[in-house]
Amino acid sequence: FTQHVQTNATLINDAWCDCFHRNRIVVGISVDGPEEIHDAHRRFRNGRGSHALAMKGIEALHRNDVPFHSISVLTADAMEQPERMYRFFRDHGINDVGFNVEEQEGIHTSSSMQGSEMEAKYRDFLRAFWRLSEQDGYPVVLREFDQVITLIQGNQRMTQNELNRPFSILSVDWQGNFSTFDPELLSVASDRYGTFNLGNLKDLSLVESTQTDQFRRLMKDMSSGVDSCHSSCDYFGFCGGGNGSNKFWEHGTLASSETNACRFGTKIPVQVLLERFEEGPPLTPVSPN
Ligand code: SF4
Repeated sequence: FTQHVQTNATLINDAWCDCFHRNRIVVGISVDGPEEIHDAHRRFRNGRGSHALAMKGIEALHRNDVPFHSISVLTADAMEQPERMYRFFRDHGINDVGFNVEEQEGIHTSSSMQGSEMEAKYRDFLRAFWRLSEQDGYPVVLREFDQVITLIQGNQRMTQNELNRPFSILSVDWQGNFSTFDPELLSVASDRYGTFNLGNLKDLSLVESTQTDQFRRLMKDMSSGVDSCHSSCDYFGFCGGGNGSNKFWEHGTLASSETNACRFGTKIPVQVLLERFEEGPPLTPVSPN
């Protein structure tokens, strides 16, 4: 197995980089773009923005040759500035980037990223980002496109994914309660599924947990949701049937299919990519003067 860490990078120094190397830890950082875009939402408790310290952490990763990827929450403001966003990642050597759009989740009962207008803006943003990277010879690779390209090149399609396949992921909370499927559902209270947990590691083995009513109920609804995706969605092979947390937060049940999150996370990126393929061969990279 591999160990992963997702961090805001503000505490990364040479000693941490040594630890990442020694333990072969896969590092993901959370950085949203240029300073004022990042600091609009990523602040410390004292109100100070975290961008400056995050950039120091990124410098340490580069200095120590630690490979890393980034996850960036895409705000409406950032979507208006694809060129600035692209240059930020390119100029700081952040070449493996995934965008997360704001989601409806838990007490966050609505998202600003909803509706056809936001979908059109996101589509435009991805198109522009792709074009800019293409002109430069792809120094920045977007996770959203990379996954799809890998599947197309390998002539493969997904039949499931790690978020809806049982025990691909095991999540454990601080008290030892555990769940599988989507980590975002660990210990979440709900009328329909209780806490989503299967038991506690102190008194239940993983094998025993598969015999519980709770596991059967989650598995039944998760399978039903994936089946529904499979029979209704042209994008199934690039997605594998979505994830439980988005389905639960948006529809109240795992036994459902399309979500706002999957339109942003899968459908629009695939549409933009296929549209680009249909336009013709790649642009010739622009050489620096
Ligand atoms: S893109 Fe959405 S509707 Fe299609 S398979 Fe994925 S989760 Fe289901």
